[in-house]
Amino acid sequence: MLTFVRRYLSRGIINTGTYPGRKVRMTEITAPKSPVTAEQFADEIREQLKYTQNVTTEQATPADVYVAASKAVRNHLADSWFKTQADTVNGNTKAVGYLSAEFLMGKQLRNALLNAGLTEQFDKAVEALGFKVQDVVDAEYEPGLGNGGLGRLAACFIDSLASLGVPAFGYGIQYKYGIFKQEFDKDGKQVETPDYWLANEEPWGHIDYNRDQKVSFGGKVVENADGTKTWQPAWSVRAVPVDYLVPGYKSGRVNTLRLWSAKSYDEFDLLAFNRSEYMEAVTPQVKAENISKILYPEDSTKVGKELRLEQQYFFVSASLHDAIRVFYPGQDKPDLTTFPNKIVFQLNDTHPVIGIPELMRILIDEYGYDWDTAWSITTKTFNYTCHTLLPEALEVWPASLIGELLPRHLEIIEKINAQFEDELKSKGVDKNTIKDMAIYTGDAVRMAYLATYGGSHVNGVAELHSQLLKDVTLKNFSDVYPDKFTNVTNGVTPRRFVKLANPRLSDLITEGLGTDKWLSDLEMLKGLEPLAKDDEFVKKFAAVKKANKVDFAAYAKREYGFELDPNTMFNTMVKRLHEYKRQSLKILSVISTYADIKSGKVKAEDVTPRTVFFGAKAAPGYYLAKMTIQLINNVSRVVNNDPDVKGKLAVYFPWNYNVRLAQHLIPATDLDEQISQAGKEASGTGNMKFALNGAMTVGTLDGANVEIRERVGAENFFLFGMTVDEVEKKYAEGYNPASYYEADPRLKHAIDMVADGTFSNGDRNAYSPLVADWLTKDWFMTLADFSAYMDIQSEIEALYADELEWNRKALLNVANSGYFSSDRSMEDYLERIWHTAPLAD
Ligand SMILES: *Cc1c(COP(=O)(O)O)cnc(C)c1O
Repeated sequence: MLTFVRRYLSRGIINTGTYPGRKVRMTEITAPKSPVTAEQFADEIREQLKYTQNVTTEQATPADVYVAASKAVRNHLADSWFKTQADTVNGNTKAVGYLSAEFLMGKQLRNALLNAGLTEQFDKAVEALGFKVQDVVDAEYEPGLGNGGLGRLAACFIDSLASLGVPAFGYGIQYKYGIFKQEFDKDGKQVETPDYWLANEEPWGHIDYNRDQKVSFGGKVVENADGTKTWQPAWSVRAVPVDYLVPGYKSGRVNTLRLWSAKSYDEFDLLAFNRSEYMEAVTPQVKAENISKILYPEDSTKVGKELRLEQQYFFVSASLHDAIRVFYPGQDKPDLTTFPNKIVFQLNDTHPVIGIPELMRILIDEYGYDWDTAWSITTKTFNYTCHTLLPEALEVWPASLIGELLPRHLEIIEKINAQFEDELKSKGVDKNTIKDMAIYTGDAVRMAYLATYGGSHVNGVAELHSQLLKDVTLKNFSDVYPDKFTNVTNGVTPRRFVKLANPRLSDLITEGLGTDKWLSDLEMLKGLEPLAKDDEFVKKFAAVKKANKVDFAAYAKREYGFELDPNTMFNTMVKRLHEYKRQSLKILSVISTYADIKSGKVKAEDVTPRTVFFGAKAAPGYYLAKMTIQLINNVSRVVNNDPDVKGKLAVYFPWNYNVRLAQHLIPATDLDEQISQAGKEASGTGNMKFALNGAMTVGTLDGANVEIRERVGAENFFLFGMTVDEVEKKYAEGYNPASYYEADPRLKHAIDMVADGTFSNGDRNAYSPLVADWLTKDWFMTLADFSAYMDIQSEIEALYADELEWNRKALLNVANSGYFSSDRSMEDYLERIWHTAPLAD
């Protein structure tokens, strides 16, 4: 009997009778949670209020009820969680460890209620207790433990793994401060404020001080008499796990998201304290706890920060040791040659790649394996997902920094590199190519190369991206190791992004299909395709969209003070602010349209009334991105206050784009913008959320747009702009943005308006760096795609004028987007990379 299981058995928590090898009888401390009525659930909330919140129902605030209800739901999931853990350790299938520096989970309560089957009970119970459901749900504060797409992908993936019944652990960091809160000042500039999301009680994460791990840094490596090496670190921190339940939808499985929090081993130095040197006394504590203090607010650009490397090593080292603890409980000399049969790790981008030398170190230094055995175990254990294309955006660490912080790991990396060079030589690779492929250059360590060599598989995140990885970014590696490379196109969870975000559409889909099974088998949406010919059904679909727009208008009024007109087209561009994503292209087109309406060039009756939404955070140090935000805000100010365009054009920029805002805005959107320069967006997942919620997309042939268009049909997608090949050709010819400015009067006028102070109260310098960049550099060819983008607008407006046809096409987007479920992504990973399967019941 494994001690892991025994511990739960001895507490009487596991309520299943038998485990392999032995029959166990248990006394149950509490009866397993069975389905409850709304009245019973209200009692459970009352009990939590009274005995854990220590308030009476009369004293309780909505925030108290939120915490109490959350704890009550968590209790309902507990038995399945224990059972899943036990089956994971005893089970006949390999687990997945998803290592990710970011998990952008979104709010938890509604998702937990859905998966626990308690939604109705909750709604009724809260009313019965005398509270408004909306107030209770609003009391939850969204954790911002991710920057954008990469972190949200990790969250969708662990949701899908649990829903498929695959045993899995998400491993990451519980940052004390997540992504900054975005506000705008009176000039429209982005202001970042700290996101102290743990200011109030957070009922979802359980901090488990008894399953901590020690993570060490610095010091030196000494060679022992027998030739083995010993690392003598200079300092250590205590990694304490905070466990979040990851409930599957109708799978009966509950997995674990284990986020590490850094604590100091040293209480403050009493001696120093006695001398009243208070600040020095707490220094070690501050240093240790700094490690999990803040999420780096960068998105896909590399930042060479020592603290960032500390964070990466911190969570990866703790997670690998944790996996050994879980799968070999109580064993001093476990047989770790079986480790790759127990768990397979996915490296979400290069952030966790230090795990490769760390597992080597653990196996050799801590468990006494020889190099070759350790290498065989390690390469079978890891796989790497690449999220970028730009070779210069791949993470590279100065060797000196690794040497200082992790001296033993640098030695191991050097040895891996030497072995790699030998292997390449023996494969007949020429000297220059070997040099280009170096993992360790003498000065630097290239993490993507280390990951590619040190793992079994490398995948890109959409077909186009995976192809470009092989052809460009990792070409040398793909030539030598073609079998390592594969693709898994990203996906999103339909539970959060359809069922929870868009209950009206969900009900309509269920009505159309005659079942709600599509929520765990999203390809069933295909069954809606014949209904696109049924005008009555299409009208119902249009009514859903309209009602969602009305809802969003109320939400935007409440949250932002905006006055929206739901009778206009809702046209949305939400995603991180990046030059390659080309928010500039969208705002220039808005300016051009504004100018045309105002000057009367377009007749008022010919204008399709539009409300344009932007949502985007810019990295605090990203100058042009922040200036673009300021420009958008000022275009919004000018346009929205100009009586000449009233009712025709409005621009809104709801601040602090996050998962919550995505859940509200996406279902209300008619037209969605996916207009990145071809070859730059690895996949995108926002594009999938919009298609699944019945928005039409205007987009380039980039990332997963290509596959979305293929599936929904070219006639149901507004394609424009240069292709990857055309972009490459233009770079090669020498790109001159000014020639486009001269050639298209619409573009010239729009840029001139930015330059002449129209959006800066006459200040001609306000946007000069942005204007100069457009006219002289424009690396992502915004100007070159402008004309094509403007030209497709008439097509968009013509279709929008035909409400029935527009909605028919939008419905066909829904019907043909089932492929973009993250359940399908997980099935592809299981088959192509992880070679594992769901647990048997
Ligand atoms: C889906 C999502 C993203 C990713 O959007 P892209 O358009 O794919 O870049 C970023 N942030 C949030 C909050 C999301 O929900």
